[in-house]
Amino acid sequence: MAIRLFDSLTREIRELRPAEADRVFRFYNCGPTVYGPSHIGNFRTFVVNDVLRRLLETEFPGKVKHVRNLTDVDDRTITQVKREGVPLAEITRKWTELFHADCVALNCLRPHVEPTATGTIREQVDMIEVLMRKGNAYRAPDGSVYFRITTFPGYGALSRIRERELKVTNSAFDADHKDDAGDFALWKAHKPQEDGDIRWPGPAGAADGRPGWHIECSAMIKKHLGETIDLHTGGVDLLFPHHENEIAQSQCCNGVKFARHWYHTEHLLVDGTTMSRSKGNYYTLGDLVAKGHAPMAVRYALLAGHPRKQLNFTLDSLHAAESALATLHAFARSLADSGGQAGAFAPVLDALRDDLNVPAALGALFTVVNRGPHGVSRAEFEGVLGVLGLVPAARVPGTAQVPPPVLALAERRWAAKAARDFKAADALRADLAAAGWSMLDGKDGYRLEPVRK
Ligand SMILES: [Zn+2]
Repeated sequence: MAIRLFDSLTREIRELRPAEADRVFRFYNCGPTVYGPSHIGNFRTFVVNDVLRRLLETEFPGKVKHVRNLTDVDDRTITQVKREGVPLAEITRKWTELFHADCVALNCLRPHVEPTATGTIREQVDMIEVLMRKGNAYRAPDGSVYFRITTFPGYGALSRIRERELKVTNSAFDADHKDDAGDFALWKAHKPQEDGDIRWPGPAGAADGRPGWHIECSAMIKKHLGETIDLHTGGVDLLFPHHENEIAQSQCCNGVKFARHWYHTEHLLVDGTTMSRSKGNYYTLGDLVAKGHAPMAVRYALLAGHPRKQLNFTLDSLHAAESALATLHAFARSLADSGGQAGAFAPVLDALRDDLNVPAALGALFTVVNRGPHGVSRAEFEGVLGVLGLVPAARVPGTAQVPPPVLALAERRWAAKAARDFKAADALRADLAAAGWSMLDGKDGYRLEPVRK
């Protein structure tokens, strides 16, 4: 059974496959802006995309190329530079490291390439120059460059946004100096008051400055995946204007179709409403770990709803995830090491291949688990857990009272080991030792013991 997935552009469920048989499957996922910690709403998208990546690898083994970017210069990172009074590179390094640690803790595979906006300036400038030469972009009086949306008749096809709404929404973004309210910035001229020393040489005929946000994904995709890719994904909040702008830039520059398939993950609600700091329902992974929750339970809870529907996250859903993981853990321990017949878990993968129906896959998983371990193949069980990225092996009960931050380190180390990121695992073991704990690894779990001084 082939993988079928909803396509946000055609609004149909279509088969996923590379442009030509035996070619690499080219997969791009918009990444985080590294100016602060990513919240669990961001991580819903990254965890769903991680399952998609793992599923694609079962279908096209060794032939999936996954690229995800890091936005390390934009309005928000620059605001943070002003707020903290430290260099841009220092801020983005700090938040990139935390993002990576969170990804390891949530058992998300690393993309094959993770380009940064500041590392791709030349390529962005090149694309802007092509767009200016072709008449799709123009220089504003202040030396900024804008994309003229009337030059691309397909503009709005992905988001189906009407022209009037378009002008209102895009004008909220880059208000000054453009010919038409719907146009968007490709390059922003340097403003000493706001940008400080953050500047690069601009496209020919434009001022020094920095790229507009949207162009980075177009340039990175062209550089690392080529002019046409097989799958482009992101959160539904990126559909407009970000993805609409990516299509316009890339197709006008390259003259060919940009993405053969689009997929968007719906919003995460917390306690039935949108997350916000003022409502007190805003969580980072670190916030939940500090409350004593394991990152693996957070992963499970983020996967528990259909990715194309809004998911309501609550602390109760985390408790449900914890007990589901404990059930899987007990089941794993009851399985014989070898023997058993493969095939019982086929409905799990079938549900994932059917428009990434993760809740149906989890339901099918528990149908087998609830029947009991008799005749079940351990290898097949571990295989399906691997596609879901679940590591139910948790702390062995009965160990000493462990402070939540120490438990968080241990869980991250266990997840890193499971993801075969041994460098991260060793570093986390050193962090645990520094906190006064040693971690003893077993086959299905670990014990934590205070180091005797
Ligand atoms: Zn993007």
